[in-house]
Amino acid sequence: MIIVLKPGCTKKQIDSIVKQITSLGLKAHVSQGVERTVIGAIGDERGKVELQNLEVVPCVEKMVPILKPYKLASREFKKDLSVIKIKKASFGGGHFGVIAGPCSVESEKQIIEAAEGVKKAGAKMLRGGAFKPRTSPYSFQGLEEEGLKLLAKARKETGLPFVTEVVNTETAELVAEYADMLQIGARNVQNFALLKKVGGLGKPILLKRGMSTTIQEFLMSAEYVLSEGCKDVVLCERGIRTFETATRNTLDISAVPVIRELSHLPIIIDPSHAAGVRQYIPTLSYAAMAAGADGIIIEVHPHPEKAMCDGPQSLDIREFTAVMGRLKKLARFNEQKL
Ligand code: PEP
Ligand code: MN
Repeated sequence: MIIVLKPGCTKKQIDSIVKQITSLGLKAHVSQGVERTVIGAIGDERGKVELQNLEVVPCVEKMVPILKPYKLASREFKKDLSVIKIKKASFGGGHFGVIAGPCSVESEKQIIEAAEGVKKAGAKMLRGGAFKPRTSPYSFQGLEEEGLKLLAKARKETGLPFVTEVVNTETAELVAEYADMLQIGARNVQNFALLKKVGGLGKPILLKRGMSTTIQEFLMSAEYVLSEGCKDVVLCERGIRTFETATRNTLDISAVPVIRELSHLPIIIDPSHAAGVRQYIPTLSYAAMAAGADGIIIEVHPHPEKAMCDGPQSLDIREFTAVMGRLKKLARFNEQKL
C-alpha cells in the first residue's frame, strides 16, 4: 500500500503512521519529497482492515493499494495458465472445451437425445439443469434429483461427463454425488456461503459471471472457491446487463483478454445466455474462439420449440452440428485443440 500524505505533515504524525504500519507486521518505507511525504507499507496488505482505516487519519490524502485483492486466482500467484481436464473435456492451454446440452433436463428421451446429438457433433461435455434458478416461482423449477439421475444415465450411454447447477448449500452435496462439475450460476456468483460450500466438495467448478459483476468481483468469487481448497475453477462470461435490449445480455468479449492477463484460470463463453436469441449464437461462438477463450457452454435442445426453459436461445442438433463444423475449421487456423 502506498500512503500519500497531505503537504505540511508533522514528524509526529508521520511517526504515528509508521508505528501503526509496523504494528500490523508490515514494513514502513518513508520517502520524503520537497512538498510531500509518501509512505510505503511493504508486505501482504490483503485482509488488513486496520491498514485501510489509515485513510481516516487527517494528514492522509490517499491510499493506493499495490496488490490485487485476490491472490490464489491471480497470475502473480501462478504464472502458468491452468488447464482443467474433466474426462475428455479440457479447458485452457490451447484446448477449446465445448459443453453443450439443454437448459434443463426434462425427460429421459430429451436428455439422451441431446447427449447423443451433441456428442456426435463433437462436444466433450454435457450440460443440463436439474435444479433451476428461475426468475418466476411459477416457471419450471427442474426435475431435481430425478434430473440428476437422468444426467447420470446420459453419461452412461454416451461417456460424456456433465455439468449441472447447484442452487443452494442444502442440495450441494447431493448434486456433487452425481455431477462431474458443479455450476454456480450468474445469480449466485456472490452467494459466499454457497461458494465456500462448493469449494470444499472436491469437484471442479464452473463459475459464471453475474449480470452486474465486475471482473474484479468475479475473480474475488473465484478466490472464495479456491480458498476452500478447490483448484479446478473454470470461469464463464455469460453476458452482462447493459442498456441494450436487442439481446438478452451484452456479451463482454473483453472479459477474455482481461481475465487472461489477471488470472491463470480458464475462461469460457456462454453465447446462449449472452444473446438470448438463437440466430446470434453461432457468431458469438466464433467470436469466443477468435478472442482466445478456452471454450464455450452452449444450449442445445433436440426440439427447441418444445423446451420448458430457454427454447428461444437453444440450437437444435443440426444447428449445433453446423457451429461445430465451423469451429473445427477456425480451431485449425487459431491453433486450438477442439
Ligand atoms: C444456465 O446455465 O442455464 C443459467 C441459468 O445460466 P446463468 O446463470 O448464466 O443465467
Ligand atoms: Mn438457460
